[in-house]
Amino acid sequence: MPIKIQDKTKCTGCFACESVCPKKCITMGEDAEGFWYPLVEYDKCIHCELCTKKCPILNPREIDRKYETVSFAAINKDEKTRADSSSGGLFFAIAKSVINEKGVVFGASFSDDFSVQTKPVDAVDKLFCLQGSKYVQSKIGNSYKIAKMLLDAGQIVFFTGTPCQIGGLYAYLDKDYDNLLTADLICHGVPSPLVWKKYLDYRQMVVKSDILKISFRQKKYGWNKFSMYFGFQNDSEYLAEHDDDPFMKCFLGNYCLRPSCYDCKYKTEKRYADITLADFWGIESVYPEMFDDKGTSLIILHSSKGQKWIDSVSEKIRLREYPYKEIQKYNSAYLKSVDEPKERQYFFKNIEKQDFLTTYNALQKRIEKTSLRLQIRKDLKKRRYRRVLRKIKKLVVD
Ligand SMILES: Cc1cc2nc3c(=O)[nH]c(=O)nc-3n(C[C@H](O)[C@H](O)[C@H](O)COP(=O)(O)OP(=O)(O)OC[C@H]3O[C@@H](n4cnc5c(N)ncnc54)[C@H](O)[C@@H]3O)c2cc1C
Repeated sequence: MPIKIQDKTKCTGCFACESVCPKKCITMGEDAEGFWYPLVEYDKCIHCELCTKKCPILNPREIDRKYETVSFAAINKDEKTRADSSSGGLFFAIAKSVINEKGVVFGASFSDDFSVQTKPVDAVDKLFCLQGSKYVQSKIGNSYKIAKMLLDAGQIVFFTGTPCQIGGLYAYLDKDYDNLLTADLICHGVPSPLVWKKYLDYRQMVVKSDILKISFRQKKYGWNKFSMYFGFQNDSEYLAEHDDDPFMKCFLGNYCLRPSCYDCKYKTEKRYADITLADFWGIESVYPEMFDDKGTSLIILHSSKGQKWIDSVSEKIRLREYPYKEIQKYNSAYLKSVDEPKERQYFFKNIEKQDFLTTYNALQKRIEKTSLRLQIRKDLKKRRYRRVLRKIKKLVVD
């Protein structure tokens, strides 16, 4: 049977099935929520079942490594790079080193319309487009195929993305390559490209101008209080701390994530990637000398290949080892999926037919109502409990 997604929590939209189909009869189409799922043209299908066999969720590959995982707090010594990066700028340090070895780096980049796509970069002066987190699911497109061609030709490839994208890459390749280095992220979950598009429309509508630049992790008010930034063609700007920006509130409140993110199969210590990159939240408590509120990375090495590349950039970065067993304390997203809020379905039902702001306001009202209802229930319970206590006391006294 060709691939058929019956349970959306079991498809990450990684593009492995589309990439592997020899007849090109699978396309990744958007559902009503704006997430990609495979669509099969049955009349072209030759029933080779490669799409099902290579699906990393249906048939996960074994990971067999002897390497003992280690983790570090890390900072890129170049201040400009760190300012332009989300965390401590470790991605850029490794990527630059790979390009200097004539390698190619794959990562998430904005397209002209500010949708997010994974693409290859082979020059240091173009690396900036992969720098910085884009909190939207990025479209893999034909990146796995291009990476395979480069790998087969003997070129060094550094492929970066969410853990499910790295899982998809290895499923598609079906083997490891000495010239392949991979990095995944500690991933909160990926928001819907449709919600992102509606948010972009809303921002442009407010200032009546096109977007020039976006940063999800502007550090003007510090790395801990990171902000969403938009620069527009008419020179106007928008800057809001993450807990004041409506898109970031939907993202961090888990209202607009892909269904598979609430039960992520990649939240395990057995990682496909050689390196995991993340924010070192809580660094101010554990290593105050590595904290200046400009961004500190957490890096986790899962293979000797990852170790080798980190060694190659050791002059460019500050590193301090941190016990691997402790990292969950400050970054629960490493192994734990977020919970699906009750209001998620309500949010998506509305956004399918409304603009971003109307949907967001309706969601806010709904959340306020729910918390008010919960508060009333709690108060009633308390009052009932006090009444019973008074009755008992009266009985004892009598
Ligand atoms: C959707 C998402 C959720 C995340 N959740 C967490 C979290 O809960 N906790 C945590 O500690 N860190 C999280 N991160 C990682 C964090 O935001 C930084 O990306 C990471 O620490 C690397 O920072 P850096 O300074 O080394 O490099 P940066 O230059 O900031 O990051 C660049 C790297 O991020 C990748 N990237 C950017 N956007 C995307 C995307 N949409 N999809 C795939 N890859 C992308 C690029 O390909 C490149 O590899 C998340 C990242 C993303 C994209």
